[in-house]
Amino acid sequence: MKTIIEPFRIKSVEPIRMTTREQREAILQKAGFNLFQVHADDVLIDLLTDSGTGAMSSEQWAGIMRGDESYAGAISFYRFQERIQELTGFEHILPTHQGRASERILFELTGGPGKVIPNNAHFDTTRANAEHSGAVAVDLPIAEASDPACRHPFKGNMNVAALERLIADVGRERIPLVMVTVTNNSGGGQPVSLENLRAVRSVCDRHRLPFFLDACRFAENAYLIKRREPGQAGRPVREIVREIFSLADGATISAKKDGLSNNGGLLLLRDEALLYRASNLLILTEGFVTYGGLAGRDLEAMARGFEEVVEEDYLSYRIRSVEYVGERLGAAGIPIMQPPGGHAIYLDAAALCPHIPREQFPGQAVACGLYRLGGVRTVEIGSVMFGQGAALELVRLAMPRRVYTQSHMDYVVEVCASLYDRRDELRGLRIVHEPPALRHFTARFEEI
Ligand SMILES: *Cc1c(COP(=O)(O)O)cnc(C)c1O
Repeated sequence: MKTIIEPFRIKSVEPIRMTTREQREAILQKAGFNLFQVHADDVLIDLLTDSGTGAMSSEQWAGIMRGDESYAGAISFYRFQERIQELTGFEHILPTHQGRASERILFELTGGPGKVIPNNAHFDTTRANAEHSGAVAVDLPIAEASDPACRHPFKGNMNVAALERLIADVGRERIPLVMVTVTNNSGGGQPVSLENLRAVRSVCDRHRLPFFLDACRFAENAYLIKRREPGQAGRPVREIVREIFSLADGATISAKKDGLSNNGGLLLLRDEALLYRASNLLILTEGFVTYGGLAGRDLEAMARGFEEVVEEDYLSYRIRSVEYVGERLGAAGIPIMQPPGGHAIYLDAAALCPHIPREQFPGQAVACGLYRLGGVRTVEIGSVMFGQGAALELVRLAMPRRVYTQSHMDYVVEVCASLYDRRDELRGLRIVHEPPALRHFTARFEEI
């Protein structure tokens, strides 16, 4: 069968509203051509992020009512802890309010001036938190990652030879841990192979370095391993997930992605001394160790979400729908990052509008163009987000989980195709205001 069956029925609906092109023109001007500044009810299809934007299941909502709001020792925490222990094999689990809170705690304890933190590619908040501690964040992607047209099945892989070189250059004492992001969000949502994770583990073992995962999309990565890695097709996703986590000494996770929750984060650790220090910092800045800045009901939603996300019918629908959009855009001749990854389609803005130089932010121009034309909100992942050193100029169409149907996606494809037909009309932008860090959230632009 060709039709992608959404493996759920819809029980509750939320209206979305069309705006006119004139209205959107005024909204763009007022927002300083920054889509983070646009009010959500002025957006028709919101592909800004897949973070915290998913639809919860009826079981998750039921869990919300079951939430135990006791300050210490809440039953909801123990239920959550048991589920995550079973899923990951980690014994020590700290809840936090978001992934970046886990990152902040981890890097405050392990980072600092003089330290160097390697990653296949840091996510924006991960880089910002590492650098906030005074450390230097280094990206070590494989060469194929920088060629959007290359169809390597695991473009998220870390360059293991480059990791060895980095360790030799700066010395192992300056590297508190090695991190790998699964899937690689900044690099196009591309998965990391088990083979690569095992290779990084073995380098870490040889140099006695801790190995951490940024595991926000562990389930999508595991499913792509099942689909693409030789010898993995027959394994249950749960088993692949267990193996991924078994290779690591710790992990930071945002429950807003593969936790299928609207909020929440986790910090997984093996080292007892680090756990002790992290627990104290958690109590100081987030909350007691059995709630970590969340409500008991959030822990219930997470416990159930981390269960549902490894269901194979769900994952097959999820990965197939992203692939479907990729195939249709590809058929229309629109340059995208190949092959489609786990949670998003990335338009290759540099190839789409070669007439706009990098200094004039081609990705931002495309993102504004999609909004102007069809009320579709996306996000630039390029020079605005990472500065002029950005490897690629991408526009991410992130798919919220279980939210949009195939006809919503067909509309998005039409908007992209229509923009592509008029790509010569796109204009570059210049920044008229920018904050000191994470400028993509609040910078203001004007069209050139
Ligand atoms: C979302 C994300 C984070 C940060 O998580 P928040 O919950 O948004 O703080 C870190 N790393 C990756 C790869 C992410 O996608």
